[in-house]
Amino acid sequence: MEYTEVDGVKLSRLGMGNMRLPVEGGKLAGHIDAEQATAMVDFALASGVNYFDTAYIYHKGASESFLGEALSRYPRDSYHLATKFFIGANPNYKSVFERQLSKLKTDYIDFYLIHSVFDVTSKAYRSSGAIEYFLEQKERGRIGHLGFSSHMSPGMLRGFCKHHDWDFVQLQLNYDDWLFGTAREQYDIACSFGLPIIVMEPVKGGRLADLGKKANAQLREREPERSIASWGMRWLMRLPQVKVVLSGMSTLEQMRDNVATFSEAAPLSDADALLLENVCRSTHNRNVLPCTSCRYCCDSCPEHIDIPRMLALYNKMKTDGKRAMRTAARADDLTDIPATCIACGACTRHCPQSIDVPHALHKLASALR
Ligand code: SF4
Ligand code: SF4
Repeated sequence: MEYTEVDGVKLSRLGMGNMRLPVEGGKLAGHIDAEQATAMVDFALASGVNYFDTAYIYHKGASESFLGEALSRYPRDSYHLATKFFIGANPNYKSVFERQLSKLKTDYIDFYLIHSVFDVTSKAYRSSGAIEYFLEQKERGRIGHLGFSSHMSPGMLRGFCKHHDWDFVQLQLNYDDWLFGTAREQYDIACSFGLPIIVMEPVKGGRLADLGKKANAQLREREPERSIASWGMRWLMRLPQVKVVLSGMSTLEQMRDNVATFSEAAPLSDADALLLENVCRSTHNRNVLPCTSCRYCCDSCPEHIDIPRMLALYNKMKTDGKRAMRTAARADDLTDIPATCIACGACTRHCPQSIDVPHALHKLASALR
C-alpha cells in the first residue's frame, strides 16, 4: 500500500468509504450485510488501508454502528476514523457528536468533517455554532483534524475555506468533473489555501468504472491487465495535493482491484492521461444525469421513491433509448413509480449534484405512459 502524510499522520492513499457497503439482498437500500462488509474491513486492514470514512447519515445511521463494531476488534491506533456532521439530518451537533463516538466505540475521531456543504447550506453551517463547537472538541483532543466535504460552487468554496484555518477538505474529484465540471477550479482553490485533499467520488458512483464497450476496449488495449476504474485512480495520482482517495466499495472484488491499484505509485503517464481524457471527451453524454447513487435524497421523499434507481432508468433512456428503458422498467416492475412523484422538490434540496429530480421523473413518467 502506498502512504502519504497529512499533518504528520501517515495515511494510506486508498481510504475505505462506508457509504455503499454490501447489503442483504443486493439492494442499495437494504440492511448492511455484516458478514461481507466485515470481510471487506478485514481485507482492507490486512492490505494496509488505515483510513476509514463514514458519516452520520450513511446507510440511515447503520454505517457508523457497523464500522464501530468491525473496527473494535483492532487496536485503536491501527486505523484512522473519519466521520461527519450533517445539519440537514439532525441539527443538534452536540448530541450527534456524542452519539457518533458511542456508535464508533471510541473517544476521539481522527478526521471530523462538516458534511456535504452546498451553496445553500453553507450559511446554516456557519451560523449554527457547530463549527465553533467542533473546534472546541479539537482543543479537547476529541477531534484530531477538522475539515469539511464540499459540493459548493468555486466562489462559495473559496469563502468557506476562509472561515478559519481548516485542516483538510474533501472534494469530488475525477477526470470527468475536471473536464466537464468545476473540479479543476476547486482543486486550485484547495491548493491556494494549502489544504490537503481527500477525494470522494473518484469514479462517480461507479459510472467511470465502465465507459462503454468501445471506450473500455481502447483502455484495455493499452493496459490489458488493469480495470477501467484503475484509470481514474491513477489519473488522480497525478495531482500532488490529493492525499487520500476514498472509494465506496460494495464488493470484495472492487476492494481487491483498488488495493492492487494503490499498492504501487503508478500515476498515469502524460500520454495515458491524454488518452483517458480523449476517451472521456468522446463518451461524455451531457444528457445523462450525474447521479452517484449517494441516496442523500431518499429519506426526504414523501412517496418513498427509490430516486437513484429511477435516475438510472432515466439515464438508460438517454443512452440506450426509450425502448430499452421501458423493457428494463417492466422487468423490474418499475413502470408506474415515476408517476407517483408529487414534484415537492424535497429531494433536490438534498442533492449534492443539484439534479432536478422532479423534472427527470416527469420526463420518465411521460416516456413510460
Ligand atoms: S420531488 Fe418527487 S422524488 Fe423528489 S422528494 Fe418529492 S415526491 Fe419524491
Ligand atoms: S439524485 Fe442526487 S442525492 Fe439522490 S442519489 Fe442521485 S446524486 Fe445522490
